[in-house]
Amino acid sequence: MAVHQPDFASLDCFSLASSPTANRKSSPSVYKLMDSLPTVLLKPGEADRVLAGHPWIYQGSVLRLTQPAQDGDLVQVKDHRQRFLGVGFFNSKSKIHVRMLAPERVAADEAFFEQAVRSAIAVRIKHLPNATSFRVVNAESDFLSGLVVDKYEDVLVLQTSSLGMDRRKPLILDALQRILSPRAIVERNEISSRKFEGLPDANGVIAGQFDGRLAVQLNGLQFEVDLLGGQKTGLYLDQQVNYQRVGGLIARSPEAQVLDCFSFIGGFALHAAQAGAAHVHAIDQSEEAVAAGARNAAANGLEAKCSFEAANVFDWLKAQTMAKPHEKVIPRFDCVILDPPSFTRNRSAVPDALRGYKEIHLRALKLLKTGGTLATFCCSHHVDAATFQDVILAAAFDARRTLRRVTVYSQSPDHPVIPAIPETEYLKGLAFEVVR
Ligand code: SAH
Repeated sequence: MAVHQPDFASLDCFSLASSPTANRKSSPSVYKLMDSLPTVLLKPGEADRVLAGHPWIYQGSVLRLTQPAQDGDLVQVKDHRQRFLGVGFFNSKSKIHVRMLAPERVAADEAFFEQAVRSAIAVRIKHLPNATSFRVVNAESDFLSGLVVDKYEDVLVLQTSSLGMDRRKPLILDALQRILSPRAIVERNEISSRKFEGLPDANGVIAGQFDGRLAVQLNGLQFEVDLLGGQKTGLYLDQQVNYQRVGGLIARSPEAQVLDCFSFIGGFALHAAQAGAAHVHAIDQSEEAVAAGARNAAANGLEAKCSFEAANVFDWLKAQTMAKPHEKVIPRFDCVILDPPSFTRNRSAVPDALRGYKEIHLRALKLLKTGGTLATFCCSHHVDAATFQDVILAAAFDARRTLRRVTVYSQSPDHPVIPAIPETEYLKGLAFEVVR
């Protein structure tokens, strides 16, 4: 099959400044345009967060508008003393009244998007030089609140979760076509956050020809993805680097028996098998995900080492660790991977989530042999790394196990963390060895 690969050699990041359509410096006409933009004045004390780089301006931070603004339009933002802070997209329907786009006077035109996408790609080329599939734009992480673009080989997947970005989809598509020459672009806009912006669901191929199915290469392994119907925008790209790092741990324990809980289509399972595990058992509650996982194992010649089971991990772990009085659970795994979905949608759900995390860790630790490895992840922004570790330690205490921490994980670098925007940091992971 002849597959058109985007020519990454042509993504010369160092030529950005000289790109004629990508000049971020404002021309006098842009200044004129900006002066006519409606101005959102902030209340005293509300400017610092914006100055530090946080793009969200809540309704409660707004003092007043100097003239009416249309939802989805560009506005300029100033502090209460009329000092210019930048420009952003306005939406009176959203609790986030303004999503800042830039601290300068920019027009939200194709040149702006082209330059912003090129800057984002430069980060990926620097930190994921060998990846052919990755998140090209990660919203706030790339100072493009409301825009996510994923690259799966030669197909792009787009999500626009703010009205301002959604309106500019044609400009964004043109910029993406120019930079990446994709075979097709798919829209995956059936996300709940669009409702808060007054946007309807949308899903489908919006450029080029594509039936939805694609074989994606991650770290030398092949994964079949369904870009029109799969979870997320197709794969959990934020784990790309961690797959390799967990594989590295498994490579150090020959003939390991591995359990991959919440496996989805086998990201960790296949990397573990490839790294030399004797056997990997992968569990996910989604029938389609485990079926795809089994197909992926076969496509990589790893089917003899992998088994996939559709089950609820909570029930499965419980059944495996139920012991009659005076009976002991026999630990039988050298490595357990836990990568559950976020159990928290908001802060109020945290206590329940922590109970859930504790439960699965307690049971996983009972199944781990002494000397074995637990690699565990938490993708909830509301549970920070310290709280997550505390839960694991509480589980270890109850299981009477002592742990040695050997690795700390974060999200892959195509999901950049901007500390001034705490919401950009959500995935954390820890690996422990069971000392006794
Ligand atoms: N480790 C995966 C990503 C996991 S995302 C990867 O790297 O690709 C979380 C997964 O947990 C989803 O596939 C979802 O179907 C599954 N899931 C959610 N709740 C579950 C439960 N109670 N039992 C089993 N699987 C569950």
